Amino acid sequence: THCLRLILGDQLNLQHSWFQQVDDGVLYLVAELHQETGYVRHHSQKLCAFFAAMAAFAQQLTQQGHRVLHLTLDDTAAYPDLPALLAALAEQHRVTRIECQRPDEYRLLAQLADMTLPVSISMCDSEHFLLPFEEIERQFQRGKAHRMEPFYRRMRQRYNLLMTGDKPEGGKWNYDQDNRHALNAEALAQVPAPLCFDNPVGDILQRLDRHKVARFGAAPERLAWPINRDQSLQMLEDFCQHRLRHFGTYQDAMTDQSPHSWSLFHARLSFSLNTKMLHPMEVIEAVIGQYRQDEAITLAQVEGFVRQILGWREYVRGIYWANMPGYERLNFFNAQRALPAFYWSGETQMRCLSQAIGQSLEWGYAHHIQRLMVTGTFALLIGADPDEVDQWYLGIYLDAIEWVELPNTRGMSQYADGGLLASKPYAASGNYLNKMSDHCQSCRYRVQEKTGPHACPWNSLYWHFMVRHREVLDRNPRTRMVYRGWDNREPEQRQAVLDHAQHCLDNLDGL
Ligand code: FAD
Repeated sequence: THCLRLILGDQLNLQHSWFQQVDDGVLYLVAELHQETGYVRHHSQKLCAFFAAMAAFAQQLTQQGHRVLHLTLDDTAAYPDLPALLAALAEQHRVTRIECQRPDEYRLLAQLADMTLPVSISMCDSEHFLLPFEEIERQFQRGKAHRMEPFYRRMRQRYNLLMTGDKPEGGKWNYDQDNRHALNAEALAQVPAPLCFDNPVGDILQRLDRHKVARFGAAPERLAWPINRDQSLQMLEDFCQHRLRHFGTYQDAMTDQSPHSWSLFHARLSFSLNTKMLHPMEVIEAVIGQYRQDEAITLAQVEGFVRQILGWREYVRGIYWANMPGYERLNFFNAQRALPAFYWSGETQMRCLSQAIGQSLEWGYAHHIQRLMVTGTFALLIGADPDEVDQWYLGIYLDAIEWVELPNTRGMSQYADGGLLASKPYAASGNYLNKMSDHCQSCRYRVQEKTGPHACPWNSLYWHFMVRHREVLDRNPRTRMVYRGWDNREPEQRQAVLDHAQHCLDNLDGL
C-alpha cells in the first residue's frame, strides 16, 4: 500500500473523483471514531444513521473493487483520537502518504492540519459544494454582515438556474411571499405518509452501549432514515412526486392534526445531503426537472426549494468559514440562562414546544420553522446561553454538522453574532404560533392572554425580551416600530406583563 485515504462520516460521496479508478495501492479508511461520538451528546438515531451509512459506503466501495478498511468502535477504542489512529495505520500498512478530503468542520480541519506524522499528508476537495471553497473568502468577510438574497442571485446566475437570459424566470427572484400559509383541512388531508426505511441498526446500538457512548432520543432497532445512495435517491424521487407541489406553500406551517405532522411536505433530504450521499446540484436538477414536466407544480414552489439549497445552504457555509474560529463563542446578548430541562424530555404544557421537541426526540428531525420559530425563538426569548443552545441542536438532529448547525443556531436563531447572518432577531409572541399552527387550539395556555395563570408564556416573554434589549433593537428599523404600541400602554399594564414574564423565567420547568 502506498496511500491511505481517509473517508470521514460526512464524506460518503460515491461520485468523488477518488473512486473513478480502482488502484490496489490505495487503501480506503472508514472508521467509527470515539472522538466523533463524544464531542457532543448525540441523538441515538444520529449515531446509528452515520455509522450505518459509513458501513454501507464501505461495502459499496468494496463491491466496486476498492480496498477498504472499515473499523468499528471496537477496533478504534485503543486510539485516543484520529491522528493516533492514522499514525498507527500508516505504520502498520507501510503507507508513504495519507490523503484526505478537506473536512467541512473547523474542529476536524484543525486537527488534521496540526497533525505531525512521519508520512506526508495532503488534502483535496470534497467535490460537493456549489461555491468552491477557495472563493468563500472573496464573497464573505470575517466580522462583516452579509445577506442571503444577493448571494443567492449570484448563484442563480452563475449556474443559470431558473433564468430567462439574464433575468429570473417569471420576472421575480424570490417568491417567498407566496410561501407562508397555514394548513387548511384540504391540505391536511393530502399530507403524504413519509417514506421510511427499515435499516437494521441493532448491532450499532449494542456497540454504542458496549462503549458507553452517552446518547439520548428514541433508539429503535430499525432506522427509518436513508443510509445509502439508493435510498437517498428514493427520498428525492418521493419528494418530487408527492411533496414538491405543496412544499413552498406550507413550508412554514405546523400542525398536530395529522398522523404525519412531523414530516408534512418536507424533503427530509438534509442527512443525505450533508453526508454527501446526494449532490446539491442533482437535487436541484431533479426538482426543476419535475417542475418542467408536472403542471401541478408552480414556479413559486420550485424557486422556494432551490433557494434553500442553492441559497441558504451555501450561504451559511460561507458565513461559517469566514468567521471561524471565533464564531462559536459569539454571544451578542450576553445570554447566560441554562436551557430548561424540557428540551431533553418534551415535557412542557406549551403545546408548540412539546410537539417540536417531542418529534425531535422521536425522529432526530424537525423542520425549519420548528427549529427557528419554536425551539429557537423560545431559547432566544428566555436568554438561553448560546453554547447550550448549540450543543442541543448539534446533538439532536441527524443533519447537524457544525458548519451548517452553528450559523443557523447561533446566527439565525439566537442572533448571537449580532446580525452577521440575519437582519433581525427572530423574536415572536404566541400570535405567530397561532397564525402558523393549530397547536394553540389544544394548548393549556390561552394565546390571547398576556398575564394571569392561563396566559401563553410566549406573550410576556416576548415583551421581556424586547424591553431587555431595547437599546439595541431600537436602532434596528426592522424592530423599532413594535415599541410604539408598547409605549402606548398604561405603565401598570406594562409592569404586569414584565412581572408575569419574570414569573415564567423563574419557573421555566413548570411551564
Ligand atoms: P427542507 O425544508 O425540505 O429543505 C430542503 C433542503 O434545503 C434541506 O435539506 C437543506 O439541505 C437545505 N436548507 C434549507 N434551509 C437551510 C438552512 N437554513 N441552512 C442550510 N440548509 C438549508 N440544517 C442542517 O442541514 N443541519 C443543521 O444542523 C441545521 N440546524 C439548524 C438549526 C436551526 C436553529 C435552524 C433554524 C435551522 C437549521 N438547519 C439545519 C436548517 C434547516 O432547518 C434544515 O436544513 C431542514 O429543516 C432540513 O430538513 P429538510 O431536508 O426536510 O428540509
